[in-house]
Amino acid sequence: MILFKRAADLNKYLTIKSKSGGSLGFVPTMGALHAGHISLLEKSKKVNTLTVCSIFVNPTQFNDPQDFAKYPVTLEKDLLTLELCGCDILFLPSVEEIYPQGTTGLRIFDLGYLETILEGSYRPGHFQGVCQVMNRLLEIVMPDTLYLGQKDYQQCMVIKRLIALNGWPIQLTVSATLRENTGLAMSSRNMRLTVIEKEKAATIYKALLYLNQQIKPGGMVAYKTKAEQMITEAGFEKIDYVSIADADTLQPITNWNGQTPLVALVAAFLNGVRLIDNMQLINTL
Ligand code: AMP
Repeated sequence: MILFKRAADLNKYLTIKSKSGGSLGFVPTMGALHAGHISLLEKSKKVNTLTVCSIFVNPTQFNDPQDFAKYPVTLEKDLLTLELCGCDILFLPSVEEIYPQGTTGLRIFDLGYLETILEGSYRPGHFQGVCQVMNRLLEIVMPDTLYLGQKDYQQCMVIKRLIALNGWPIQLTVSATLRENTGLAMSSRNMRLTVIEKEKAATIYKALLYLNQQIKPGGMVAYKTKAEQMITEAGFEKIDYVSIADADTLQPITNWNGQTPLVALVAAFLNGVRLIDNMQLINTL
């Protein structure tokens, strides 16, 4: 694996490589790698000549400074993991390398409705930060295919919009969420939970499964209330949202016609750790 710390060096290397043909896959991460990240890398490795992974904890996407300060960093372990899974290139930039002009006064992206709901409304500025870093990373790497996880459902929609806004010929591949045996979605933030808390945290998955199994056409309020109750009873101190939404637009659905594809999305705090998860409701497909 080749490690690049400077954007210009990586860009130059990839430009030379692209002249000999082949395809380039890109897996952006914030590190503290787990099997979910690795599944994206493996998907890329299977079909691309070169796979680039980036590790960068992007300060501009954290609306909560405490969350940024506590974000897990396991760099040595990550390097070993990437070597073992056969990643070709790691991009490990500094904040200055990503934001040479500083982190203020950056471009604002027109994300429309997407930015006003769910993560957008509970984490003001978060998606602007996501676009700022992804815009820069994609300009540097310009992959043929970008690999993202469904775990961050709304983020996938935002990045799809970013690619469209720029008119880039980048294909987006969204992979299924990898889970622990309990159903808990793998996440770097899980490292901040104890074993007992992880058991409790799996209730989000159970609530999503409940929705997937039970939802019938008609009013959604009772289903939502029951899912919220399950999460609260498991010991979560705060629920930001349980949303049953149109899978294509994320518009909340209050009365389901039995046809519109649905996704259920949850964000909730367990012992100060904010966890998100979602499930496309397959009964509705
Ligand atoms: P992060 O390091 O959390 O920014 O995540 C980097 C990429 O990995 C994003 O595209 C995530 O959606 C994806 N990802 C995170 N958790 C999982 C998971 N449990 N399964 C699959 N992909 C994931």
